[in-house]
Amino acid sequence: MIRLFDSVHGEVRDLDLRDPGRVSIYSCGPTVDNVPHIGHGRQTLVWDVVRRWLVFRGFDVHFVSNITDIDDKIIARASAESTSVPQVVAKYENEWWTAMTALGAAMPDDTPHATNYVSDMIELIVGLLERDDAYITSDGVYFDVTCVDDYGLLAGQPLDSLRAGARVETNEEKHSPLDFALWKLAKPGEPSWPAPFGDGRPGWHTECVVMSLDLLGDDFDLHTGGLDLKFPHHENERAQAVAAGRPFARHWAHHGWVMVGGEKMSSSLNNFTSLKDLLAKTDARAYRLLVLRSHYRSPIEVTPATTADAERALARLDSLARRFELAPLAGETLEVASDFRWAGIAQDLFDAVAEVLDDDMNTPLAVALLFDAVAAANTAADDGNDDEARTLANAVNALFSGLGLALNSHGGDVDVTSGQLVAQRDAARAAKDWSEADRLRDELVTLGWVVEDSARGTVIRRP
Ligand SMILES: [Zn+2]
Repeated sequence: MIRLFDSVHGEVRDLDLRDPGRVSIYSCGPTVDNVPHIGHGRQTLVWDVVRRWLVFRGFDVHFVSNITDIDDKIIARASAESTSVPQVVAKYENEWWTAMTALGAAMPDDTPHATNYVSDMIELIVGLLERDDAYITSDGVYFDVTCVDDYGLLAGQPLDSLRAGARVETNEEKHSPLDFALWKLAKPGEPSWPAPFGDGRPGWHTECVVMSLDLLGDDFDLHTGGLDLKFPHHENERAQAVAAGRPFARHWAHHGWVMVGGEKMSSSLNNFTSLKDLLAKTDARAYRLLVLRSHYRSPIEVTPATTADAERALARLDSLARRFELAPLAGETLEVASDFRWAGIAQDLFDAVAEVLDDDMNTPLAVALLFDAVAAANTAADDGNDDEARTLANAVNALFSGLGLALNSHGGDVDVTSGQLVAQRDAARAAKDWSEADRLRDELVTLGWVVEDSARGTVIRRP
């Protein structure tokens, strides 16, 4: 059984699944108005790791993460860059997927775009208006939060105390400062869609509730996002579903932020390091390891010191891979534990790691156990216990692959495909199949590698 901290209940709980063996997950994706920063990288890695671990444990996972491609910030960016909204969306969505792929994150099963769901959103809003759960003002349609008895469930506060703490509302037409826009009427020149209540665009909270229910169905298993999304974004998604009579997420989980000098890293604070800049000088696997070494709910600081420390730790893993000639695993394909042979000490390691990961994804403890196993494998090899050493090394490789981290025996930033070509070339050379070895060398050269032969086999590096 997998357990996760449930933000509604404030405690670690069993994941009580709608359909046994299957896990449906909706993870709030980006608004594509800027380049992704390392906080977005952490967000993607945290849920990539949770997804991979569930698959590794044998669950059939349906993972959905959206793209918000219409939003005030996108309109503002188009104006600032003197370009159009579709061009801003195309540019920054491309930046997003390029960075996330470089990070080694597997693509979601579905990546719904808000603008493809506008008619469904209008349908939802029409229903809410018919039931008097929403009202029309001169600038749009608003949701009346008093229509939901347990509004404040995710905030962890009842409506009265939320209201007392709310900002003073400047929009006098709103019934309550907590009421939120379902639909914003378009100003001249803004992108808009026709609707019975006036041409305009959907509110952000309406996008996610519609897309998650459409792709995952009522009563889906897990809704995730950053801590800052718990309230009001997730509260308001849920409020609409409740008002519409649609059972919503069974569980809610939220991740901590990347911090900069005590502040959350964010695009709006302009205190961010872009992922592209980080990955230009840091192995993406080191960043994954850095993320794994903190609990997903804790804040992390990404500094030159913590990054260098993660790179040193990664070097220990790669040196294990070199010593035991481990083939790199993990990539776009999600690994399944049953594909590996677990027995004896490998089984013991698997059980120990699974126990801490199944209990609210305690990745720091899991990584510590795996590094203990690395040390034990090296010691066993030093002592001539080759079988034990190799068994442990293979188990470490398989378990890290389950978390999306591919060990490589060639040093540097070698992708899985190139690593496999190197392994095939070494096998061809061992079999004295020189023409095949030459063919594989050419293939690596085509991929931009300098290929050299060394005592331990093929070595590749960037020119
Ligand atoms: Zn969302």
